[in-house]
Amino acid sequence: MKIILMGGPGAGKGTQAGPLVERFGIPHISTGDMFRAAIKNGTEQGLKAKSFMDAGGLVPDEVTIGVVAERLAQPDCVKGFLLDGFPRTLAQGTALAEILDRLGMKLDGVINIEVAEDVLIPRLTGRRVCRQCGASYHMVFNKPEKEGVCGQCAGELYQRSDDNVETAKNRLLTYNNQTQPLIDFYQKQGLLITVNGGQAIEQVFTDILKALG
Ligand SMILES: [Zn+2]
Repeated sequence: MKIILMGGPGAGKGTQAGPLVERFGIPHISTGDMFRAAIKNGTEQGLKAKSFMDAGGLVPDEVTIGVVAERLAQPDCVKGFLLDGFPRTLAQGTALAEILDRLGMKLDGVINIEVAEDVLIPRLTGRRVCRQCGASYHMVFNKPEKEGVCGQCAGELYQRSDDNVETAKNRLLTYNNQTQPLIDFYQKQGLLITVNGGQAIEQVFTDILKALG
């Protein structure tokens, strides 16, 4: 099972990745883990990536793609993989297609977890933090018993300034602008599986399994 898992901020992509790799017995390849492993193992691309990171710069696309190519060529990927966080752009998607071609691999599906904005905004802005003890709550996922009051110390709960609606909308807009061409790319190839991420976690998982057959 060779799949890509896509989903914007608040879509719950992270929650689905674990159960999916467990179900199919495939490696979970997330961008962060992949970089850390490549650097730790001192691979050619890992060393390149490290030199950019050490200089405080962004790792350029060609190096990221190189790290992905090295990772997918490892023996544990023969039976499949779940790519998480890559590709993010059409350019990366095109590069990935070339890598897979070279390795003689074919994708089984690209899962796109889609959630309506009116559901995403409360998810992305719901965090509340206690002024006194720092305990963290969420107005959707982990409500305090009494609104605005910490259940542990009765301190006042507040919303951090970077958790506001405008920031959330900007994050969503940036994500959508970046990934829409990629989604179109996979749609044209008949690989796109759109799943409604506004449902309960278990239902989202069931829908993904059903779509993958
Ligand atoms: Zn508290």
